[in-house]
Amino acid sequence: MLSAIGKKLQSIEKELSPFETRLLPVSKTFPSEAILDAYEYGYKSFGENRVQELLPKFEALPKDIDWHLIGHLQSNKVKYIASFISLIQSVDSEKLLVEIDKQALKAGRQISCLLQIYIAKEETKFGWEPEEVIQFYQTGRLAEFKNIQIKGLMGMASNTSDQAQVRSEFRKLKGLFDALKAFDILPNSKMETLSMGMSGDYLLAAAEGSTMVRMGSSIFGAR
Ligand SMILES: *Cc1c(COP(=O)(O)O)cnc(C)c1O
Repeated sequence: MLSAIGKKLQSIEKELSPFETRLLPVSKTFPSEAILDAYEYGYKSFGENRVQELLPKFEALPKDIDWHLIGHLQSNKVKYIASFISLIQSVDSEKLLVEIDKQALKAGRQISCLLQIYIAKEETKFGWEPEEVIQFYQTGRLAEFKNIQIKGLMGMASNTSDQAQVRSEFRKLKGLFDALKAFDILPNSKMETLSMGMSGDYLLAAAEGSTMVRMGSSIFGAR
């Protein structure tokens, strides 16, 4: 018998099956029991958006879980997650890269990151402007971050029912992702993961080339 969460996961996976898009369950605000429920179905990666919430979950839950940080990360919090975080999806500035690199060195490991790109029309969303990222790559400064591996890009589309708007934002992000593949020759940048799409727009994102959708409410319920 599938649990309610198991049923949701199964039906979303079925919808995603025509695409090369992986489902990342976003467990923020949901208790450890909900995470363990999904874990029973083979899910080993989960997204959290706050360090304060991630730390107790990391402590309490099985150690083979890969944790992704998907929310805005303050520089002074990097040290708490540097030893174990699997992927920081929300790297929204060069200043944050500097701190992650420093803490990765201290922790004696490489930290995988996605650059969060600002694609929405909303003022409230964090991220690099597409032009800013291209300029950053062109300066060659990424080579200085020896303890960081850039694995791709993350973005959030506008929270709107205007499908054409959302589609054009996803296309912009996919275009940037493809353009930055030119820098895959660098030792610490490989455009492999394009993290775009949430509960409200995941099928559109998948159709536009997302390799990872981050979904919370449609799996675990309303927050
Ligand atoms: C909360 C969150 C999600 C998941 O949102 P849902 O609408 O619940 O699927 C995805 N990405 C980020 C960055 C989030 O903060």
